[in-house]
Amino acid sequence: MKFVSINPANNETIEAFETQSKVETLELVKLADQAYRSWRTTTFDQRKEVVIAFASLLRQRVDDLAQIITREMGKRISESRREVEFCAQIAEFYANGAESFLANQQLETADADVFIRFEPIGVLLGVMPWNYPFYQVTRFAAPNIMAGNAVMVKHAENVPRCAQVIADLFDECRLPSGVYTNLFIPTSFVEAIVSDIRVQGVSLTGSERAGAAVASLAGKNLKRSVLELGGNDPFIVLEDADMDATVEFAVKGRMANTGQSCVAAKRFIVVKSVADEFLAKFKQAMSVLKIGDPMDDDTTVAPLSTEQAAVALSEQVQASVDAGATVLLGGDRPARPGAYFNPTILTDVTPGMPTYDQELFGPVATVYVVDDEEAAIQLANDSSYGLGGSIYTRDIDRGQRIAERIESGMIFINQPTTSQADLPFGGVKNSGYGRELSHLGILEFVNKKLVHLG
Ligand code: NDP
Repeated sequence: MKFVSINPANNETIEAFETQSKVETLELVKLADQAYRSWRTTTFDQRKEVVIAFASLLRQRVDDLAQIITREMGKRISESRREVEFCAQIAEFYANGAESFLANQQLETADADVFIRFEPIGVLLGVMPWNYPFYQVTRFAAPNIMAGNAVMVKHAENVPRCAQVIADLFDECRLPSGVYTNLFIPTSFVEAIVSDIRVQGVSLTGSERAGAAVASLAGKNLKRSVLELGGNDPFIVLEDADMDATVEFAVKGRMANTGQSCVAAKRFIVVKSVADEFLAKFKQAMSVLKIGDPMDDDTTVAPLSTEQAAVALSEQVQASVDAGATVLLGGDRPARPGAYFNPTILTDVTPGMPTYDQELFGPVATVYVVDDEEAAIQLANDSSYGLGGSIYTRDIDRGQRIAERIESGMIFINQPTTSQADLPFGGVKNSGYGRELSHLGILEFVNKKLVHLG
């Protein structure tokens, strides 16, 4: 088996990478464990030097790295540049903040001096997706390397060049060999790694299917796990929303990364008194988007990550249309090579349709018209997912009251859900558990050790 890099803008193969054997993989686990035992004894300043160097390299090479991302998974070049910059910010955030996030925590007790020490726990496995191939890895690797853990990354099979380049960058920053390990392995090897006594935890970002598989392996082997899975985020438009700004956010929220984001706005829930206005303006704004070469700065709609992704999205849309959904815009693929899908708006979407029940990982918006605020909340919560969401109203108190009732890990008022180094990121329900980013992200894989001084 090989990891193959294919440019989704034209479906041409770029290059292929050899996979490691099971024996080689377990040898890498052994080396990672040895590296961890030494890395855990380094000071925060020593770790910081490496992680800051990583951030600096990202910034220096932003254009080259962005081209690698765009060629391999198709996102627009400006978004690739932003992703690389964002990774530099995340690396700096943990390089500068780790020592205080992990400082001993004194406890108030009557009879003794008691505190909590935050210690690394060992080798961790990251199973990562292709949608933000640098960001997903950085938000797992940077906090854990700063915490003194060693990380092994099994990246998605369609982004091997990104996977290799990230490992090369850490090498160049003189991170000791084995503290970061890139694995070119099939998913069937994940079990051997998670069950290895030297591996202490696993973090997965991806589909529910992959998350459930890895969580059950972690459970069976008593390993810690963090899961960041899909979402079906509501975008609630109330009658007092600033409509022009809201429509702009609707397009941004749905179309970022060509819709392939776990926190993309996916279900547009609009109260009926403003539904006609929203639909007309949203349709107009989506219809002027320009499909094109993702390397071209003028392109506003890039291809999906793979041909299979475009086919899967077509099937979800077609099955829903067959079951009665109405296509207000798009609904099909353009007649050009590459994994493209036209910007699409669907209405009359009902439970039982794939576009109601499942995550749509592409440029397809579903719009629901509801009677009032209460119906909007009910519909927003009628999902197996609970990742992010957003509410549009000029009344911030009202927005906050609604926010309290939305079943999600994150909720934003008057802007789509977004990710930032210092904000916790994660979900509830089938969107997973645990938190990444912020001070919480570095606490997932550390031993909160109680020390009681007699
Ligand atoms: P997957 O969940 O299959 O892939 C994510 C990662 O998990 C990849 O590294 C993949 O490896 C790995 N993986 C898959 N199955 C297993 C398994 N049984 N055991 C261990 N690791 C596994 O996502 P897809 O690429 O297939 O995308 C399908 C859907 O998942 C999307 O349409 C979207 O709905 C959702 N998704 C959500 C993401 C998010 O950000 N939350 C990101 C990506 C996808 P490999 O590539 O080798 O199969």
